[in-house]
Amino acid sequence: MRLYNSLTRQIEELKPIEKNKIRFYSCGQTIYLDMHIGNARTYSFWDVLVRYLRWRGYDVFWVQNFTDVGHLTDDADEGEDKIIKSARDKNIEPMVLVETNIRSFYDDIDPLNIQRADIYPRASGHIVEQIDHVKDLLDKGYAYEVNGSIYFDTTKFPTYGQLSPTRYEEESAEARIAVNPDKKNPRDFALWIRAPPEHLMKWTSPWGLGYPGWHLECSVMSQKYLGDTLDIHSGGIDHLNLHHDNEIAQSEARTGKKFCNMWLHAAFLTVDGERMGKSKGNYILVRELLQKNDPMLVRLFLVNGHYRKAVDFNQDVLKQTQILLDRLRTAVASLEHAPGGKKTGLKAAITEVEEAFIKAMDEDLNTVGAIQAIMQFIKKVNNSLDNKKTILKQAQEKIITLMGVLGVRLDTTTTTGESSLPALVELLIELRADLRVVKQYELADKIRSSLTDLNIQLEDKPEGTIWKFKS
Ligand code: AMP
Ligand code: ZN
Repeated sequence: MRLYNSLTRQIEELKPIEKNKIRFYSCGQTIYLDMHIGNARTYSFWDVLVRYLRWRGYDVFWVQNFTDVGHLTDDADEGEDKIIKSARDKNIEPMVLVETNIRSFYDDIDPLNIQRADIYPRASGHIVEQIDHVKDLLDKGYAYEVNGSIYFDTTKFPTYGQLSPTRYEEESAEARIAVNPDKKNPRDFALWIRAPPEHLMKWTSPWGLGYPGWHLECSVMSQKYLGDTLDIHSGGIDHLNLHHDNEIAQSEARTGKKFCNMWLHAAFLTVDGERMGKSKGNYILVRELLQKNDPMLVRLFLVNGHYRKAVDFNQDVLKQTQILLDRLRTAVASLEHAPGGKKTGLKAAITEVEEAFIKAMDEDLNTVGAIQAIMQFIKKVNNSLDNKKTILKQAQEKIITLMGVLGVRLDTTTTTGESSLPALVELLIELRADLRVVKQYELADKIRSSLTDLNIQLEDKPEGTIWKFKS
């Protein structure tokens, strides 16, 4: 598989450190507000990556963090802790907020079929490890203390800023120093922050009461569970500039080893061209959208775009996605109910669609190309319902499996509302046949026309009645 590596700025072959094993870390949620659909889009892509790699036979170990302390309102070490601020606004304990929001996180990802990572470590649960990391950096001369806060000295790490080499050329150094006079250099960042006495969420450290800087947790928790060098590290594009450059610096300074081989960054979901963001207030929560929409419609929308390309959210795009989803479901239902025939021409197409799917996914996780390959296949399927029943079944399974790799469930055994539909339709067809036997034609016709209103078409054939969704 080839992926765009933000570190080298090119598409490269993924070469696991250990054969067939992928150690994967994705930056997760700052757990102060419920998840919006921009967050969900980014997580959906990491979910697709994991599903795809596992489907291709890799043993993936996936860690994603919960940030529950230390992420300040300004990513560059300024402002207030986001969790504390939000908890104060709600008049609850910060850890109550964290606990509640973590439960909400699962409630949001589960219906979207974003599978859970293997581990979700929390920053507040790894304070000891973070203090150890800071101590090591001080011992090695990469960090310095000012009034109980510890900063990473970026001048001691000559390759600092590999992910965004032009960032500091564009910024005014004086302006940044003015923000925090404790920092020796404008690029330096906080590893540990002194907490004033009234501060909630603080811990005892060799430097007094304090709490970790936001960037530190990801280095510490990824390396604790995945080892010194990761295969893949991912995050939203907003992390590239500061967060991930800082992670590289503080990790490599400590171990002397390369921190991560492949860096992936997902583009933003936007509203009217502007990033959807919690602080911007232009966000739509996952739970709001799911109140009115089928979760699989939302899921399909989230993955039907390339992860490195920003996409704008609006009702039109949902409508387009609904057409796509209807086509997929109609194909699955038609394949289920078609009486079948004697032909075998679809066999080759079943192999070809999988090859085309893999080709697209292998080239930088091209989910759009993968979906297009499936839609091409569906066109063929619609003209091949006279193939043998066993072949139709294989075709149906192929569509369900491949869409499943993208996290879109089309199978009829899911627990969502639509799952019981085929059984209900079959029941009504049976009832209609019974009514016709006893010459209750009016009632029988009522069943047929009511089903037509629901987009379900009945066709009476010599071998019995079949049904399909109207396309
Ligand atoms: P946050 O909780 O704000 O730290 O974000 C959690 C994850 O969602 C991070 O990986 C962010 O990069 C990502 N993210 C935040 N806003 C958006 C957006 N509008 N579109 C896509 N991903 C986003
Ligand atoms: Zn992170």
